[in-house]
Amino acid sequence: MHQDERIAIIGAGPVGLTTALGLARRGVPCVVYESLSTLAREQRGAAFHPPTLEMLHELGLGEALMHMGLRIPVWQMRDRVNGIYAEFDLGSLADVTKFPFRFHLPQHYLSAALLDELRRHPLVEIRFGETLERVELEDKSVRLIFSTENEHRETRVPWVVGADGARSTVRKTGGFEFDGFTWREKFLVTNVHNALETLGYTGTAYVSDPDAWAVVLKLYDDACDDLWRVAMPADPHVEDEVLLEPENVQRRLREVLGSDMTFSVAYSGTYRVHQRVADTFFKGRILLAGDAAHINNPIGGFGLNGGIHDACNLAPKLADVWEGLAGEDALELYSRQRRTVALEVVQKNSIRNKNLMDEHDPNVRLRNQQAMHEISLDPQKSREYLMETSMLSSIVRADQIC
Ligand SMILES: Cc1cc2nc3c(=O)[nH]c(=O)nc-3n(C[C@H](O)[C@H](O)[C@H](O)COP(=O)(O)OP(=O)(O)OC[C@H]3O[C@@H](n4cnc5c(N)ncnc54)[C@H](O)[C@@H]3O)c2cc1C
Repeated sequence: MHQDERIAIIGAGPVGLTTALGLARRGVPCVVYESLSTLAREQRGAAFHPPTLEMLHELGLGEALMHMGLRIPVWQMRDRVNGIYAEFDLGSLADVTKFPFRFHLPQHYLSAALLDELRRHPLVEIRFGETLERVELEDKSVRLIFSTENEHRETRVPWVVGADGARSTVRKTGGFEFDGFTWREKFLVTNVHNALETLGYTGTAYVSDPDAWAVVLKLYDDACDDLWRVAMPADPHVEDEVLLEPENVQRRLREVLGSDMTFSVAYSGTYRVHQRVADTFFKGRILLAGDAAHINNPIGGFGLNGGIHDACNLAPKLADVWEGLAGEDALELYSRQRRTVALEVVQKNSIRNKNLMDEHDPNVRLRNQQAMHEISLDPQKSREYLMETSMLSSIVRADQIC
């Protein structure tokens, strides 16, 4: 069997590529395996929080990223019928972060910038078109079994990082548990070429409504100015083909945005949303990061950000172990720190956000909105809320775990 002394990373999504760059910057050789023949360009994560920007800058990506993207300091909470009930300004955190704004950039731009950087790095190899079929844990190594178009191949590596997304083969064949639940409704995601500023939206808005809530984000696109994402709930009993019929998408957009504008729909798709966290992020010689380790609903934009935080926590610890500067307890610590944050911050806040947006009881809804309104007006409470929702306090929380 082929023996490879490099660290293997499964998945060339944003988390796998960030892990590879973190290792390479520390002089650790690695190989990334990706089943697709090129980078994914799906319509997914698009909002970066301040600590993520700090980490990407530390990795040397600042210049590549900052000439793209949109800086969005102010975000709104709205009731679909009654309008804005709270606004928050990340500018008030300028004393704690160099990046006091949300940065909107579809994640495939980040992946492309990472790939560019990695391709220039002699310690990194990226192998597209290779699908991991299973992992087998051995005493001091892991056996990886791959399929390519024409053959099966096995290789033995000292460590493997599973960054292979929500359906992770590393997680499933490595014997990890992935407990949690699936939301009842589907999510309908659209991108539209319309100037939603004209309807009063700032670049990020959360619209509450029991049946027609929405997340509204202005997106960066290198080819046009007006691109917005609108994500909303869809009936799980209706077939996708019906949900995605142009007139149904148009009707739903008018309903959630309260406008009779004609929407120029550039993309629409549906997906199921889960809340799950792996039982550990480290077992034997196997590590999990990103969606392979934890998944959540997209309200609040924690998934991609949390995955990059995993990568930036893991890479230096794994480099230390690789160089003999630390024992495997460093990897136990990675798992403890990041799993705790996944449970205490990401799961808790994403579930709270969803419940706040689709509360059915009108009295509870009004009480919740009144509470958020009061938080937004109180400088101390609003600061705490911004620290939590921007994930800045999650980094402090992880650092407290030893
Ligand atoms: C509609 C939507 C909106 C979202 N919005 C946000 C947001 O605003 N902010 C945010 O933080 N997050 C958001 N997310 C979540 C975010 O997209 C994910 O958390 C992020 O993509 C996770 O990155 P990853 O690298 O862990 O996994 P992925 O991006 O899923 O990458 C995994 C890679 O592994 C490859 N792979 C899989 N299996 C194998 C195998 N067996 N062998 C080899 N390769 C394999 C895949 O092809 C893929 O390229 C959103 C998600 C969705 C669906």
